[in-house]
Amino acid sequence: MKELFPKNSSSLVKKHLSQALYEKLKNKKTSSGYTLNHAIHSGVTNPDSDIGIYAGDAESYNTFSEIFDLIIADYHLFTQEKHHITDLSYCNLPPLDPENKYIISSRIRVARNLDGFPFTTSISSAQRYQVEQLIIEATKNLPKNLQGEYFQLKDIVNSKTKTLKTNFFPKKGDRFQEAAGITRKFPNSRGVFIAENQKFMVWVNEEDHLRIISMEPGSDLAETFNRLSAAIKILEKNLKFSFSNKYGYLTSCPSNIGISMRASVHIKLPKFNKQQELLYKTAKQYKLQIRGTSGEKSSIENSIFDISNKQRLGISEKNCLTILSKGIQKLIAIENQ
Ligand code: ADP
Ligand code: MG
Repeated sequence: MKELFPKNSSSLVKKHLSQALYEKLKNKKTSSGYTLNHAIHSGVTNPDSDIGIYAGDAESYNTFSEIFDLIIADYHLFTQEKHHITDLSYCNLPPLDPENKYIISSRIRVARNLDGFPFTTSISSAQRYQVEQLIIEATKNLPKNLQGEYFQLKDIVNSKTKTLKTNFFPKKGDRFQEAAGITRKFPNSRGVFIAENQKFMVWVNEEDHLRIISMEPGSDLAETFNRLSAAIKILEKNLKFSFSNKYGYLTSCPSNIGISMRASVHIKLPKFNKQQELLYKTAKQYKLQIRGTSGEKSSIENSIFDISNKQRLGISEKNCLTILSKGIQKLIAIENQ
């Protein structure tokens, strides 16, 4: 099956989709009409895909489980099947860098999709609109400290509303999302809810129906996490999230299933910047992922790295934070030497 994918691609879908498996799955369809060819299109057209496969709906993880399971085990470094455990209880880790010498800001996001709707990869315009309306309604029940305003992306791109910082909402989808069908009818029914204090937001209909995000300057991951988990619990009262015991929270990209959480710090590491081999080696040891200053696939500016957890399945949210903290502390210790 390798010839279906670009020659120079090292995506996980290319690695794991054998000819026999392709033949076995190619005529299967989920009830929303999602097929294997649709699922792998992003990996087929983008040589630099890391994963290269997207789910069209919750059902995709069962219909195409044979390919998804191989990729999931490889990405999450996790093979043992067990019940997914969620732990959003109170976190009291101390700030990682109390003097703010290295860490500039902290951000934690979770991805969620609404049960019963196809994912952004195969949703219809009418359903996308419905999802947006349900989420807007749910944000109205947030407590006082999380209250804010919903901005439609349509208005943002047409400059009908104040310009937003890029990290508040990406103004266009990337190539990978485009090939997966995620950016269809862009910017309709996309938007972002932003709390007045700008420390909490909800991206609507970006790569998943919801990206629930908490962020703040400094290195206090615990405070960032506690604000996020409080918000999730309230949103959950009005929204039913797509979840499976085996895979945890279900998302369009299989790298995001499980806790679907990415906790990151923006951290300035000038010495590591000159010795990136050592940085990547240490990151691998501690299961950390390194991204660029403006997010996935962006470059490093000013020695500022985005360091986050890689694994999301086979780990609880609280456990993940503990492991991430240890890894970041190790990086700071080495940078300091
Ligand atoms: P995700 O898909 O997990 O939300 P992206 O890599 O697409 O992450 O990044 C989304 C945006 O959030 C980017 O603009 C990125 O620079 C910003 N970002 C990520 N981590 C941090 C952080 N710790 N502090 C400030 N901004 C961040
Ligand atoms: Mg993203």
